[in-house]
Amino acid sequence: MSEPAVAPAILTIDVAALVDNWRLLARRAAPGDCAAVVKANGYGLGIETVAPPLYAAGCRAFFVAQIGEGKALRALLPQVDARIYVLNGLEAKADPLADYSAFHLAPAIGSAAELERWGAFARLQAKPPAAALHLDTGMNRLGFESLDALKAAAAAAGASGADLLMSHFVSSELPDDPLNALQIARFEAARAALPRLKTSLANSSGLFLPRLPAFDLGRPGYALYGGNPTPGRPNPMKTVVTLDVAIQQTRWIQAGETCGYNGQWTARRRTRLATLLAGYADGLPRGAGFVEARDGAEIEIAGRRCPLVGRMSMDLIIADVTDLPETAAQPGETARLFGGAVSLDEFAERSGTIGYTVLTGLSRRYARRVVGG
Ligand SMILES: *Cc1c(COP(=O)(O)O)cnc(C)c1O
Repeated sequence: MSEPAVAPAILTIDVAALVDNWRLLARRAAPGDCAAVVKANGYGLGIETVAPPLYAAGCRAFFVAQIGEGKALRALLPQVDARIYVLNGLEAKADPLADYSAFHLAPAIGSAAELERWGAFARLQAKPPAAALHLDTGMNRLGFESLDALKAAAAAAGASGADLLMSHFVSSELPDDPLNALQIARFEAARAALPRLKTSLANSSGLFLPRLPAFDLGRPGYALYGGNPTPGRPNPMKTVVTLDVAIQQTRWIQAGETCGYNGQWTARRRTRLATLLAGYADGLPRGAGFVEARDGAEIEIAGRRCPLVGRMSMDLIIADVTDLPETAAQPGETARLFGGAVSLDEFAERSGTIGYTVLTGLSRRYARRVVGG
């Protein structure tokens, strides 16, 4: 019998858990509908992996960041009832307007100049193409700077085709932040002034605020993929992404010896090390290793937690497996970096980053295994 080919690192994506997460978020968004934010290649999981099952589960509105992402998504979801919004709005330099109608993409328009351009284009179409109007209620990043600015621009350009009014939370993962209530109030005022438009405000964490902003369309991303929308509290979402990395070698070193580049980490006792086949070239955050005297992340090997030690290399990381029985953590076995005993959020936090960054950085080098489809 030939040995099965084993990839150095395997990323497992559980599509059934993804769909269950969308259903849970859709219940939170009810009586409104629930969209799916699938920008950045479905938060790194693969747009082709995440979008079709969400459509099959009943999701009919999708948000991407860029028009290129929208075109890729349209190829996967040709159905006319799959609405695709492009969050970044009309790009200032490129002239993609024909693409919006050819691919049935709806831009999130966020300035008078954009709306003027869009209005002129939309008037030439047989059927006005859909668009969202993006109101900035506090992020100071994208969108009309005030309701008055939005109303004036809409009066001048004609908001033909616009069917959705949207805004975005600054701090919805911090339920006590007073900005949440302020943004909701500003958005409610805009909704009252523009009653013809459907409304969309809440991202993942927004759907878990104590005072739920119940508008027409929830807009979660991170929580779909298993990230915790309620940091500091138990995660209501199912695990979607698991990362398993093979152990290549183990070795004993003496107390006082170091491991990894620049000898940054020193063994305080006789230590057994396991070298794993993934590193920062696989998109792992360098902070998951030992950086500036700060302990790295913990990972799971043979059902036990082990710290990462030494600096992370391009293709390798080192774990301290001294506390495991020597029969465990042998070459060919795997370490679970996150998605098991260690959650995505914990791994990210102990790496000095956030789970969003870990997901969107997941490299193409991993073997990807899709389960639950
Ligand atoms: C990314 C994004 C979302 C989704 O946010 P999550 O925190 O991932 O749920 C929603 N709306 C806008 C405008 C976004 O940019």
